[in-house]
Amino acid sequence: MKHYKTVIVGGGIVGAGIFRDLALHGVETILIDKYDFSSQTSERSSKMLHGGIRYLENLDFALVFEALHEKNLWLKLTPHLAREVSFYLPVYKESKRPLWMIRIGLFLYDLLSNFKNSPHSVSSTKKVLAELPNLKSEGLKGAGIYYDAIMDDAKITLEVIYDALKEKCASALNHTAVLNVTKQNDKNRLTLKNQLDGDEYEITADVVIYALGPFTDHFLKNIPMYNWQDVLLPSKGSHIWISIKDLPLKYPIVMTPKSEAGQTSDRVIFVIPHGDQVLVGTTEVECSDDYFNITPDQVEIDYLLNSLNDYFPKLKLNQSHILASFAGIRPLVKDNESSDRGKTSREHKVFRPASNTYVIAGGKYTTFRVMGQEITREIAHHFGVAYNENLTISPLRQKSVISPFEWKIPTAIELKKICETEMPKSFEDLLKRRLSISGRAIWINRAAPIDFNNFFIEHLELLNKYFKVTKDEIERF
Ligand SMILES: Cc1cc2nc3c(=O)[nH]c(=O)nc-3n(C[C@H](O)[C@H](O)[C@H](O)COP(=O)(O)OP(=O)(O)OC[C@H]3O[C@@H](n4cnc5c(N)ncnc54)[C@H](O)[C@@H]3O)c2cc1C
Repeated sequence: MKHYKTVIVGGGIVGAGIFRDLALHGVETILIDKYDFSSQTSERSSKMLHGGIRYLENLDFALVFEALHEKNLWLKLTPHLAREVSFYLPVYKESKRPLWMIRIGLFLYDLLSNFKNSPHSVSSTKKVLAELPNLKSEGLKGAGIYYDAIMDDAKITLEVIYDALKEKCASALNHTAVLNVTKQNDKNRLTLKNQLDGDEYEITADVVIYALGPFTDHFLKNIPMYNWQDVLLPSKGSHIWISIKDLPLKYPIVMTPKSEAGQTSDRVIFVIPHGDQVLVGTTEVECSDDYFNITPDQVEIDYLLNSLNDYFPKLKLNQSHILASFAGIRPLVKDNESSDRGKTSREHKVFRPASNTYVIAGGKYTTFRVMGQEITREIAHHFGVAYNENLTISPLRQKSVISPFEWKIPTAIELKKICETEMPKSFEDLLKRRLSISGRAIWINRAAPIDFNNFFIEHLELLNKYFKVTKDEIERF
């Protein structure tokens, strides 16, 4: 049975960040995910690296400060995956927050970034409408303009993992579920299942770290020795993709719609152009079902469409304009005081349900690098390694073949390189996270047909060297 010093269960951004930190410190580590890396919450976010302008109202200054610092750091480290953009926050006569309040909030936001953000401004109605002609003009008082980043969430997670894998002490398994964990003497004994061929086997590890995001309670409740009590207040968030042709927009907009049925709090909706598409989200609703591979409900989609039509009445957007949609669960950790998901802090927490066992939950994508540091510091110390919290402030060493901001169809040589170096284990891994084709494919098909099926069928022999895929499966996608 193979033994590892550390095993990380969960290959979303949080697990990936801890994996890289341990690997860079030379601590032997293996990362395991039940499905593909970054195929759950960490590819279903609003795709922003941001301080969280909204959290200023909750007085979460420390979180905003840390997140702004991380945002500005990753803008430097991964310029091919994250891009600074200006966000417009339109203010109307009936808006809850008047322009003067927005002005103070945006000043505070820049101050908390140590003025590393590009500076905010406030724009007149005339100027806003010149930049955003489709925006509702009635009652418009002007807009606050501030800077945050848009990013490719799945790709950042993958590149963090590829970087860790450059170290000899690191290995990673996707499509491998951890089924059970027991203690054997001082060691943790884990039962694993290869989800693709059904093989079950065991490994042991000195230390186990769970970075299971919203799946934390579900998983740990089933491991008797942890005697686990639920710690999460799960909150579902959904997004839709719309073609930029149907929703022409030069800059991201922050909408502040009124709550509707199903919403658990007043929240903002971001409308963000990403190349040829616009991302619209998110909702914030309760959820109680299975959290894997979830999809938006109609009531959430209606809420997003209604809000869009309120802000962009000329465009008359409806269901037929939606190219694709997705949903994820925020792994919020319960505050004692509040069950309001909007007000629950985005801070993370670390739990120790057994010796040499760490559970990390909560937090935000943006702060992943620093979230796991209290764990990695302790583990480095445990194995007699000097901890350097700045080791992870270094550029990632393996770029994805297909970059999200310069998206293109790969050549046969590029396809082979992706299969060899980026660990896709299924056609879906390749399509969604390595080639970034999901909503995009539908749009391309609608606007200017490109025959993706033929492209993949032509390369069927090549693909089958790396994972099983049939012509039928390709046609079904
Ligand atoms: C709608 C929405 C919008 C958001 N927008 C933003 C944003 O714009 N910016 C931002 O900073 N943050 C945002 N967030 C928060 C951010 O996306 C999450 O905090 C982050 O992605 C959580 O990452 P994670 O690694 O903890 O969880 P996950 O990415 O879910 O990773 C957990 C992994 O554990 C694996 N797993 C589960 N069970 C097992 C098992 N038995 N064996 C092995 N593996 C297992 C899963 O397959 C999964 O890959 C958003 C969240 C949501 C839901």
